Amino acid sequence: MFSNESHGGARSRSLVITAIVLVAALAGGWFVFGARHGSDDGATAGRGPAAGDSTAAPDSGSAGSPVAHGDATPTPVTTSAAAPRKELTGRTIVIDPGHNLGNAKHTAEIGKSVDIGTNRKACDTTGTATNAGYPESTYTLDVAHRVRALLEARGAKVVLTYDGDRPYGPCVDERARIGNAAHADAALSIHADGAPADKFGFHVIAPKSVHAGAADTRAIAAPSLRLATTLRSHFHTATGEPLANYLGGKGLTIRDDLGGLNLSTVPKVFIECGNMRNAHDAAALTNSAWRQHAALGIADGLTAFLEGKR
Ligand code: ZN
Repeated sequence: MFSNESHGGARSRSLVITAIVLVAALAGGWFVFGARHGSDDGATAGRGPAAGDSTAAPDSGSAGSPVAHGDATPTPVTTSAAAPRKELTGRTIVIDPGHNLGNAKHTAEIGKSVDIGTNRKACDTTGTATNAGYPESTYTLDVAHRVRALLEARGAKVVLTYDGDRPYGPCVDERARIGNAAHADAALSIHADGAPADKFGFHVIAPKSVHAGAADTRAIAAPSLRLATTLRSHFHTATGEPLANYLGGKGLTIRDDLGGLNLSTVPKVFIECGNMRNAHDAAALTNSAWRQHAALGIADGLTAFLEGKR
């Protein structure tokens, strides 16, 4: 609409000018040119995309050509874009499935005390179970396998402290040392709690800063706390499981009485995924689909921690 008005005005003006003098006609022609030029601007704006395309095509073609040759990467780019992202390549993560189904048959062995720096403590315990008899050790190993699969798919090297391949244990001090020997970027011990039936929810346990005997967590206390809060957030998001309604209600405790944390020299936390003695939590913990959500929350928490995110 704007270009039609300009064009019509310029034409009637040029008719008048033609009847007077040539110079004026030339001037009118200049106006026509000017008006047309103006309308061309408008039209150019209107067909901008087409003009832009036709102009841009050779430009991008000539610019794109050398770039494409320079990069020589059309195929590799396509390949890497299609490949899954491996954000944890080069990272080592130790997953510690709490307890061992065989511990119950090896009470003498797991009852022996080990040095945890701040104290001496039993090598390991049997763990708890739901009222219907689903053992904590079965839960922890199942979730550990799920977490391992997720983390390996993201490129991580995953080390399990045990994989159903020994009759009992390892002892808590050995569980910590496996993480240390692997020079893990992060370590996680998976558990489920055995609290009174009216308690429910999950919580994470981070190491207190201690320096006593073989225990020296001064260097890992801060990063472990960050791991704990990051894990807490992602686990809650993935599972919808509430923060434990006990132990202060924040879903986080700091302890100096766990050998698996005291003796660790790499960032490490425990997660108590729920209360096996609570009916609602037990229904979740025994559900394989829920356990996959739990594993995803754990894997996402570890991944975010290692990427420096929250
Ligand atoms: Zn446990």
